[in-house]
Amino acid sequence: MTRIAFIGLGNMGLPMAANLLKAGHAVTGYDLVPAALDAHRAAGGAVADSPRAAAAGADIIITMLPAGAHVRAVLAGPDGLIAARAGTGALLIDSSTIDVETARALAAEAAAAGLDMLDAPVSGGVGGATAGTLTFMVGGSAAGLKRAHPVLAAMGRSIVHAGGPGAGQSAKVCNNMILAVSMLAVSEGFVLADKLGLAREKMFEIVAASTGQCWSLTGYCPVPGPVPAAPSNRDYAAGFAAALMLKDLKLGQDAAAATGAPTPLGAHATALYQRIADAGLAGKDFSVAFPFLAARTRAELVEG
Ligand code: NAD
Repeated sequence: MTRIAFIGLGNMGLPMAANLLKAGHAVTGYDLVPAALDAHRAAGGAVADSPRAAAAGADIIITMLPAGAHVRAVLAGPDGLIAARAGTGALLIDSSTIDVETARALAAEAAAAGLDMLDAPVSGGVGGATAGTLTFMVGGSAAGLKRAHPVLAAMGRSIVHAGGPGAGQSAKVCNNMILAVSMLAVSEGFVLADKLGLAREKMFEIVAASTGQCWSLTGYCPVPGPVPAAPSNRDYAAGFAAALMLKDLKLGQDAAAATGAPTPLGAHATALYQRIADAGLAGKDFSVAFPFLAARTRAELVEG
């Protein structure tokens, strides 16, 4: 049994913490939202009234927060958990998707305080978090990963050491750029198929067995029907919110600008998800790209 502090019990954090409890670990949770704490308590976890209280005595501290600023707010500076746990040997694992620069800066701050820190963002969505089948892409030391492995294995199926600090976030930002582009491509395919009078179920059956096949189609279909567990069947309730996809695309474009990587489709996907957010759909699942596109004219999106 490992004593774990879990900070950030949202769409992802709550089911991840539940799997740690199922594996027999002692998990003390903290979130700003009281309902999240209630849900963690109902799953058998302990709750705390501050990040510091949650982290006191923990062997491993996991953060699952929206963005880099939130992770910095919890971990960095004189009031952060790195200072609070300096020299105790606690291992920090940040599974949020954040910018590479912040991940590296926090790992350095932790190292200066005698603590090991891993960036360990995930792929697999809320379904993977619930089923315990997430993919972890891990940046940091091999020794830190060895220590983290049994805990990560309670939440995920695939654990890949990407490299040193920030390498996990580098992998994540590339994966999500690919995901956004593929979701938009599948959505556009269905919009065109509709206009051509092709039945949606036939379109799905054929592309699923053809070279256009991808996870956005067969794992998370943006039109209702073919994939029953997909958010498209629940009025696009997130899931993975379009706002978070836009955040990740911006991280990707920042990284592309910093390194000079040519990513024209990534740039276009960022602009489209910005329009989706501006249309009031930021809180919907990112597969809302399909109804967003379907409700607009070619003049608005292509020729305008
Ligand atoms: P979420 O918004 O549902 O959850 C984030 C939680 O953090 C919220 O409950 C919020 O109250 C809490 N929080 C914010 N600031 C806090 C603070 N200072 N202290 C304590 N709690 C705080 O987001 P999510 O969907 O769970 O995603 C979390 C991270 O995982 C994001 O970085 C996201 O990009 C990434 N991610 C999400 C998915 C997905 O499918 N949802 C998939 C892969 C990665």
